Amino acid sequence: MDENVYIKTGVTNVPDEGGYFGEYGGRFVPETLVPALDELIVAYKEAMADPEFQHELAHLQTTYTGRPTPVTYAKRLSEHLGGAQIYLKREDLAHTGAHKINNAIGQALLAKRMGKHRIVAETGAGQHGVASATVSALLGLDCHVYMGSVDMARQKPNVFRMKLLGAEVIPVESGSKTLKDAINEAIRDWVTNVRTTFYLLGSALGPHPYPMMVRDFQSVIGTEAREQIVKEAGRLPDVCIACVGGGSNAIGLFHAFRDDKNIELIGVEAGGHGIASGEHAARFADPNMGRPGVLQGTRSFVLQNADGQIMNTHSVSAGLDYASVGPEHAYFRENEIAHYTVATDDEALAAFQTLCKLEGIIPALESSHGVAEVIKRAPTLPKDAVILVNLSGRGDKDLDTVIKELGMNV
Ligand SMILES: *Cc1c(COP(=O)(O)O)cnc(C)c1O
Repeated sequence: MDENVYIKTGVTNVPDEGGYFGEYGGRFVPETLVPALDELIVAYKEAMADPEFQHELAHLQTTYTGRPTPVTYAKRLSEHLGGAQIYLKREDLAHTGAHKINNAIGQALLAKRMGKHRIVAETGAGQHGVASATVSALLGLDCHVYMGSVDMARQKPNVFRMKLLGAEVIPVESGSKTLKDAINEAIRDWVTNVRTTFYLLGSALGPHPYPMMVRDFQSVIGTEAREQIVKEAGRLPDVCIACVGGGSNAIGLFHAFRDDKNIELIGVEAGGHGIASGEHAARFADPNMGRPGVLQGTRSFVLQNADGQIMNTHSVSAGLDYASVGPEHAYFRENEIAHYTVATDDEALAAFQTLCKLEGIIPALESSHGVAEVIKRAPTLPKDAVILVNLSGRGDKDLDTVIKELGMNV
């Protein structure tokens, strides 16, 4: 792959100058952050146009992250389902075990270029916190991660990882003591220390330019996969599938295929205990609670009650457990560029086990939602059809959850 064309920006007509994807996106922030976001927009554009920055990013992606990650033909799964041929994009093989580092490395390089050596980040399950701590150690940056105290208790190994990597982990005791509250605290820190601090945001969310920037850094997934699938399958896929939390791995995959009218793009949200139960994170699939609204800097689909109160969400996978979704997905859905569906906790757990036994790959529970959709779709398609699914991460982090859910004993 040509290292100089690794990351592109401005190749599509969205977002516009104000950061809008149609009627979604924008920047809903306190006045004090406006100059910082303006500065970031300028710095980002300059960096993207600078071959030296592009080269440094591509070089680290190759020599540190381990890119390109492969595309694997899932032969036994394909035979088992008896329909389409299934290919896996292996983000589980990236350093730290998920796609999050693609974005973290890009933003950390940008922070350094802007002369901001203090990083703040938020984390829910700890995956973005670990990616931020990792790249901060790599580049010599001072990393502070906000994490809800409930999440800290649930995700101890990731708290230890962050500390070992030299980051400070700050417990958040407000609200429900989870991701949403951690983001509020990280934004508060950023407002206070805005001159010296870079906010390293973990998904395709937040105020402009974050949704665009995170998309661009994650678009490496689709750019690679498009080339690789042609080599492996002999042609482009008929269907691309990815799970959607904030939406960064999905938008990163989808972008390389967004102009192909005959390639179906499917995003999979967390159906939790089912839409009817109200215990889920299905911003698009629940017509009662999922409506346009503003949450944490951006306008998108948000799970809220009749009074606009943000609802608590549920998913067996922590990475999909958020009340809002990246604004570009709301735009993709409205313009039928992509379609969105759900997989329940039970369907994801079943898919998790199937991939373990048939392919020797332990996937993240988030990624298992994508695999669950593959299991539904593949048998309905002819044998010469091709499905590409993004395996956003590996499942080692989820072993405790899975062991409990399945009631396993030694
Ligand atoms: C965080 C995470 C996700 C969800 O985030 P997106 O921004 O929607 O990609 C999915 N898979 C894994 C493995 C994650 O760590």
